[in-house]
Amino acid sequence: MARVHNFNAGPAALPLAALERAQRELLDFEGTGMSIIEHSHRGKAFEGVHNEALSLLRELLSIPDDYHVLFLQGGASHQFAMVPLNLLPADKSADYVLTGGWSEKAYEEAGRVGAVRVAASTAEGKRFARIPKQSELSLDANAAYVHITTNNTLFGTQWHDVPETGAVPLVADMSSDFLWRPIDVRRYALIYAGAQKNIGPSGVTVVVARKDLVERGRKDIPKIFQYRTHAENNSLYNTPPTFAIYLVRNVLAIAKEQGGLAEVERKNRAKAGLLYTTLDELSGFYRAPVERESRSVMNVVFRLPTEDLEKRFVAEAAKQGMVGLAGHRVTGGIRVSLYNAVELASVEVLVNFMKDFAKQSG
Ligand code: PMP
Repeated sequence: MARVHNFNAGPAALPLAALERAQRELLDFEGTGMSIIEHSHRGKAFEGVHNEALSLLRELLSIPDDYHVLFLQGGASHQFAMVPLNLLPADKSADYVLTGGWSEKAYEEAGRVGAVRVAASTAEGKRFARIPKQSELSLDANAAYVHITTNNTLFGTQWHDVPETGAVPLVADMSSDFLWRPIDVRRYALIYAGAQKNIGPSGVTVVVARKDLVERGRKDIPKIFQYRTHAENNSLYNTPPTFAIYLVRNVLAIAKEQGGLAEVERKNRAKAGLLYTTLDELSGFYRAPVERESRSVMNVVFRLPTEDLEKRFVAEAAKQGMVGLAGHRVTGGIRVSLYNAVELASVEVLVNFMKDFAKQSG
């Protein structure tokens, strides 16, 4: 079996053991004579998987009891609308911190629902090369919430400190750095993340939300868009993406088996450390545009001297079994995504390739 070194930005690499478990269980799930995909979402077999996935998430992230954990659909983009639909009343405005393409999209979508303000932006000519400092945030003390994107998948920046927002609830799009390390959930009022980077396939979106906030949410919007509907029904209001949730369960079970999020963090820091060290050592050839303190542990972006060399880099790496290295179509360059399932051994193969490539071409 030839598995590649998968550096895709999402959908992305999943732990081999999670896929193998799915393979083993596919045709006959726990002796029921059918796959989990063929089970009713109201039956015992799926219910077990669903509740296990939810409780593994609670356990891994130490999610307090006064928070709901929800499995929703529509991706993180759906949350761009659902957050303001629920949490932005007509007499308030919401603060958005713009740190990349996804936070801009979240901001624009919220602007279609109600009043929004930019609390800070690091666009600086569309470079988005850094995360703003606390002192740069101009926060409205009466805002309905403050929205940040904790990891900027396109630009390779990441918040390393949680911003202080006082009494104003903090909402975070954690799509590309969810579950990469332990976090203090209490610092956030609502977290959302598409699964397709760190925790599973596309099709399911995790929302972790403070119960009082969900309770206060608007009631004059369609029921399907209200967090409370999904909370009241244990995320089984309508048919959930059962196979995606099943795979999330497999991934979370492995994370727990392997020592939980402290161990996940240790591995992720080792991978990113190796790659950034290599970039710094070869800075005469590779250029890392992100400000040092804002560097992402999940998505590492860099440039080569010319676009032609970048194309060759991607093509030659592919020949050697490394895929997913082309930067986002908006940014160009190279992007290496180092989500939880990417092994250190893959990064070692990559940095050796980078050294050879620089020697040959530099
Ligand atoms: N936010 C971030 C930070 C992302 O990386 C992405 C997807 N790459 C999205 C939102 C959009 O996610 P989706 O495609 O699940 O709507």
